[in-house]
Amino acid sequence: MHIVIPYRQTTVYLCVHFYPMSIKPRVRFAPSPTGPLHMGGVRTALYNYLFAKKHGGVFILRIEDTDQTRFVQGAEEYIRKALEWCQLIPDESPWNLPGDEPYRQSERKPLYKKYVDQLIQNGHAYYAFDTAEDLELIRERAKAAGSVNWQYNHISRNQMKNSLTLPQQEVEERLARGDDYVVRIKLVRNEEVRLQDIIRGWVSVNTSNMDDKVLFKSDGMPTYHMANVVDDYLMKITHVIRGEEWLPSAPLHVLLYKYLGWEERMPQFAHLPLLLRPDGNGKLSKRDGDRLGFPVFPIDWLNPENGETASGYREQGFYPEAFVNMLAFLGWNPGTDQELYSLNELIDGFSLDRVSKSGAKFDFDKAKWFNQQYLRRRDENLLTEDVSKELLQRSIAIPSNLKAICQLMKERAIFPVDILSDGDFFFNEVQYDSPSVSKKWKPESGSQLSSLKNKLMQLDGFSAQKIEEAFTLELTEKNLSFGQLGPVLRIALTGRFTGPSAFEIAEILGKDECAARIDRAIQTLG
Ligand code: GLU
Repeated sequence: MHIVIPYRQTTVYLCVHFYPMSIKPRVRFAPSPTGPLHMGGVRTALYNYLFAKKHGGVFILRIEDTDQTRFVQGAEEYIRKALEWCQLIPDESPWNLPGDEPYRQSERKPLYKKYVDQLIQNGHAYYAFDTAEDLELIRERAKAAGSVNWQYNHISRNQMKNSLTLPQQEVEERLARGDDYVVRIKLVRNEEVRLQDIIRGWVSVNTSNMDDKVLFKSDGMPTYHMANVVDDYLMKITHVIRGEEWLPSAPLHVLLYKYLGWEERMPQFAHLPLLLRPDGNGKLSKRDGDRLGFPVFPIDWLNPENGETASGYREQGFYPEAFVNMLAFLGWNPGTDQELYSLNELIDGFSLDRVSKSGAKFDFDKAKWFNQQYLRRRDENLLTEDVSKELLQRSIAIPSNLKAICQLMKERAIFPVDILSDGDFFFNEVQYDSPSVSKKWKPESGSQLSSLKNKLMQLDGFSAQKIEEAFTLELTEKNLSFGQLGPVLRIALTGRFTGPSAFEIAEILGKDECAARIDRAIQTLG
């Protein structure tokens, strides 16, 4: 008979204490400079920022660049510019140091070894000398035997080349010789790691389902896990607010806190829901940029490897306030009907309790809706400046009545540039090439319009209201329907059939310009 003696299971209840809010929170956004910051990353930064500011705390930016093989030129600068554009300015970062402490992990390299040594000494980590080929071979063998997910763990480590299996003398010789090694965490079998995530509630993982992750390499660089935990501790981070993709790493981080004797200062975790593609089918990834017809980056990214540009919200004409407002609502809601929130209002209203567990579907139409609302509410001088910039870029002369044009055209615009396209007749010569023009312009239209023009020219004061009154009088006197004269006037002034009131357009154009446009239309169209 076969008797199975179950291993005793130790439960590690951790991370249940809540920081009293009398302790000012210190949170960090910790991107890796491996490429442009995805909008999901900006949302993580935003929630960290809002949480810190709401509670009078500190928002830190740390660059996690321990994996030098994934370093991408320009990525850090991109992160800085993108956050600046969104007005999410860190209180502490590589660019504004409050002390001498570096905020780039590559510059903190000497800090980590001591903690790795401490783990080894206390039996919570060990040296492993297996080469990449050794590991490849064993994975292949395991695969051939039907096990696809071979892991370096509490069972397999007993067959590998490490300081748990090799004689101590050999380990010392290898280290003295400078053999390549890694340091791995030594997980205890069948231990239940429990952590209380602010968003997801209790999360529980058994160490039997975890592997002995690499913490440190012989080039002196820690891996993400080690550097992340040590830095969070040294930087006195109180709350780790990050994307859901890091949830599987959290139990390991909890164990590191325990093994390093830092349980008292363990931060609280909050793992944010994923940003999903519009159809809800999978995570919105960096690769989705432009492919799905909308940007996934805050600002344009010029890929140094292939010279290609991936488009950003800024360059598409989004206002940073609208972009940030839209992002805040991807995963959080205030529980009221209000949707438009300035950054300060977001700070006031934000709470992690109202961040949802389920993924947030991205909706580009909604993003545009936010921008439209901000454009409509924009200060009129600022909007005029926005449109002036667009005109300058296209070397189009800036009309003196631009402010009035913007106020008239803004209702239909989503982006400042829409004012240029919807109101092209304000900036360029009117075109009569629309096929509907010939349908609406009848042989008698010229003389009817000419008579209207005479009436308009006699007006004292050229307001939309007066123009409309004169127009209505003309209809009555000549016994015309609106449909006979209205579209014809609109064609003369704009070359279009839709848009804001023709009387308001006429007022902005002014008497002389209206006369010139009517004359030109009569001349051209007969
Ligand atoms: N460096 C990680 C990243 O690129 C940070 C994860 C964390 O916040 O712990 O997202």
